[in-house]
Amino acid sequence: MNEDIEYVKKLYNCPVCKETHTVNLPKNLADNRTKYPFTYVFLHGELKDLLTTLYIDKKLQIRGERVIKLQDDDIFSKDQVLKITQQLMNEIVNLQNENDHLRNELGKLKKRTITKIH
Ligand SMILES: [Zn+2]
Repeated sequence: MNEDIEYVKKLYNCPVCKETHTVNLPKNLADNRTKYPFTYVFLHGELKDLLTTLYIDKKLQIRGERVIKLQDDDIFSKDQVLKITQQLMNEIVNLQNENDHLRNELGKLKKRTITKIH
């Protein structure tokens, strides 16, 4: 773990393992998002074969979770691929929105700096 980043310990209920898991979320994870709750995707489980999506609100509270077990064999079922792809696509859209938002903010800051200099 990066020592410069502070982490917050959070719990979530896993419908696949039927357990409460602990996850360390970077303290600044919820900062500068364009939409809340936002999704946080990672793999967990002993074999790292559980695709986990957490829905996290502005206060870094976990509002929901979705866990999909990846199959042991290398070939995913079509349904699984669709589910996984959909989740990742959603995540990409979110990241793009955030990227646009940050660019916009950066643009504003640059303009402000230029105005100050002149
Ligand atoms: Zn689990």
